[in-house]
Amino acid sequence: MFELRDYQRETINQVYRSIRSGHRRIVVQQPPRTGKTVIMAEIARRATIKGNRVMFIIHRKEILSQAIATFKQQDVDMDLATMGMVQTLTRRTAKLPTPQLILIDEGHHAASKSYRHIIEAFPNAYVLYFTATPIRTGHDQLDQVADDIVVGKSIKWLTTHDFLAPFKYYGLGDIDRSKLQKSHGDYTTQSMDEAISHQIYGHIIDQYQRLAQGKQAVVYCHSIESAKQVTAKFQEIGISAAEVDGETEATHRDKLVQQFRDQQLMVLVNVNLFTEGIDLPNVDCVIMARPTSSLALYLQFSMRCLNPRPGKQAIIIDHVDNFLTFGLPDNDRDWNQAIITKDKRKKTNTDTGPAICQCKYCFGIFYRQDLTDNCCPLCGHKLEKDKHDYKVVNVDLQEIKENQAVEHRKKMIQQILNDQVMANVADKSPGQLHTLKELQAYAKLHGYSTGWAWHQFNNRRRKKW
Ligand SMILES: [Zn+2]
Repeated sequence: MFELRDYQRETINQVYRSIRSGHRRIVVQQPPRTGKTVIMAEIARRATIKGNRVMFIIHRKEILSQAIATFKQQDVDMDLATMGMVQTLTRRTAKLPTPQLILIDEGHHAASKSYRHIIEAFPNAYVLYFTATPIRTGHDQLDQVADDIVVGKSIKWLTTHDFLAPFKYYGLGDIDRSKLQKSHGDYTTQSMDEAISHQIYGHIIDQYQRLAQGKQAVVYCHSIESAKQVTAKFQEIGISAAEVDGETEATHRDKLVQQFRDQQLMVLVNVNLFTEGIDLPNVDCVIMARPTSSLALYLQFSMRCLNPRPGKQAIIIDHVDNFLTFGLPDNDRDWNQAIITKDKRKKTNTDTGPAICQCKYCFGIFYRQDLTDNCCPLCGHKLEKDKHDYKVVNVDLQEIKENQAVEHRKKMIQQILNDQVMANVADKSPGQLHTLKELQAYAKLHGYSTGWAWHQFNNRRRKKW
């Protein structure tokens, strides 16, 4: 049995306090990677000791066996526990034994029909919605299904007290966010395809080597195709990497995950797989190559590398500028306001969080208040605002704003890509160059005119045809 941590015990006490004061349906907010399942198991154990029945509902099937293992380990009386996926349970409500307590994992989904059907089938049960991000895209919020919220410790507090690892965050801008289109609460695959620069595959490797060489990394991609390309690029330079996605056969996937745990694999590239649940304790670097408009996914991606270990420094590399939408993972967020359906909110609420900045030299993202002596807290470079050495980034943590700073970003992307191409062509001869970009970079590097690059490029095309 796990010994509960103080902050976990505190959350449990707050839940009982809320129940005693008359609430029946309570949102329980806990940041990712802080042992939500252990808290749920402890509450389930106390309920089953008294002979009460509990129901535990999950959103994704991948984590069911892990949750069952945790419940058993925490001495929950499994004869009194019904555990399953929402899609399964919602069809069988008439046949299921009546629970006195319903525990819902990833509770931010619980305002949807399938969950409501279960909750309404057992109107006398207490319901606890566990989530790191009690917020939904759209108008209706969790106050539609809940009457109270218990807010856990902040990510900053957990980091200060060594329950989460400290991180450095970099924003690389390999994306044109104006092309992103939303549907069903997140960006469509097609629009992500269009928005993400294809230079990204090589760039991911370069930046991994620059910022996180030697660290075990998980990469989040937007499609199987792109995940395979990224994996191949890592393998090309001799870094062990594998790709997993929803279609990967389960035993093969488990084998790869085990290899990663055993540190035989350096890099795991995945598509929509490593979100909640699946435990990968030794991730030290997260690489985001998938934009998202879901705060829940953003925190699950970025915080995947924050399991603590003495002396650990986690690295988060954001190629798709998710920070423009959500700020840094440890931005304080007002969850008490977030669960209130929009037109009922207090008008005065402006949750923009503290100002964050980007360093022009290392592309690090940091809080402006962490500038000391005007030096970048990530690379130590002396920064002067007048010279545009750093830029204050506008983030509104409540309202998602697209197109924000897009023009600036485009320029920056171009600059990074040019520098990258420049570095790639530095030790090559003109005969080894193929694209116009490479030729232009070569011309710039050697002081040739831009006309030279065009001329060379056209010559090549003629030869090819
Ligand atoms: Zn810097």
